Amino acid sequence: MSSPYREGPQLLLCPRCGEVLDRVFEGVAACPRCQGAWIAQATLDTAFGNPRWPVGQNLWWHNALECPECACEGTVTKMGARSSGDVMVDACVSHGLWLDQGELGRLIGLAAGADELLELQKRVTAVAPDPSELAQRRLAWRTELDTRRRAAAEFRGWVEKEQQRKAAEAAEHAKARALRDEAARREKKAQALAAQQAAAMRTQAETDRIVNLQALGEERIEIVKDLRRIDAEQAQHREDLYKLQGELEVAKQRLREIDAQLDTGEPKPK
Ligand SMILES: [Zn+2]
Ligand SMILES: [Zn+2]
Repeated sequence: MSSPYREGPQLLLCPRCGEVLDRVFEGVAACPRCQGAWIAQATLDTAFGNPRWPVGQNLWWHNALECPECACEGTVTKMGARSSGDVMVDACVSHGLWLDQGELGRLIGLAAGADELLELQKRVTAVAPDPSELAQRRLAWRTELDTRRRAAAEFRGWVEKEQQRKAAEAAEHAKARALRDEAARREKKAQALAAQQAAAMRTQAETDRIVNLQALGEERIEIVKDLRRIDAEQAQHREDLYKLQGELEVAKQRLREIDAQLDTGEPKPK
C-alpha cells in the first residue's frame, strides 16, 4: 500500500482534536495538542510485519473518529474501532491507525512514560535503516507545511478579495440597472409630454383655423356690402343715363325745329 507521505505534502488533521498533525518520521504523524499518533498502514506493515496488527475485537458500535487521510482525499470515513487488550484502536482500512497518547506504548509493552514513537521508529529503522534521510524528510515536511499554511492564508485572502470584488460588481450592476430604469422612466415621461404638446398644437391649429374662417366670414360680409353699394350706384347711374337720354331727345327735337324754320325762312314766334 502506498503512503500519501511519499506523494507530496498534505495537511493531516488530528481526528481527535482537529489540530494539524506534525510529521514525526516517515508514515507517522503526531498531534502537538493531544499527543495522539497517526500511523500509516505501510509503517505498521514495516514495524510489525503484519498489516492486521494489532489483532483485536471489532467494536462495530463504536465509530466516532474520522480518517485524516480520507479527509485529504475529500471523503469522510468513520474509522472502525477495535479493542486490543485494554486499548481501543481506530483504524481506516485504506490508510492506517489512530492511537491516543500512551496507547502504542501499552500495545507494545513499554513502561509508562517511555517514548513510544521513538520505539516505533527504532522498529522501522531496524527493518529499513536510514535515519538521516528520515530527519531530512521530516524537516522538508515542516518547511512544506509552512509553505502550505502561507498558501492557504493567501488563498483565503484571495477568496475574501474576490468576494468583495463580486459584491462591488453586483452593487455596480444594481446601480447601472437603477440608472437604466430611471432613463426609461424619463423617456416615457418625455414621450407623454410630447404627446400632450402635439395635442395642444392640434388644438391651436384648430383655433387658428376657426379664427381664419371668422376673418373670411367678415371679409365676405364686407364684400357683399360693397356689391350692394355698387349695385345701388349702378342703378343711380342708370337713372341718370335715362334722364340724360331724355334731355338729349328734347335737345334733338328742338334742333330739328330750328333747322326747319331756318329752311323756311320764317321765324316762328316762340
Ligand atoms: Zn489532537
Ligand atoms: Zn482513510
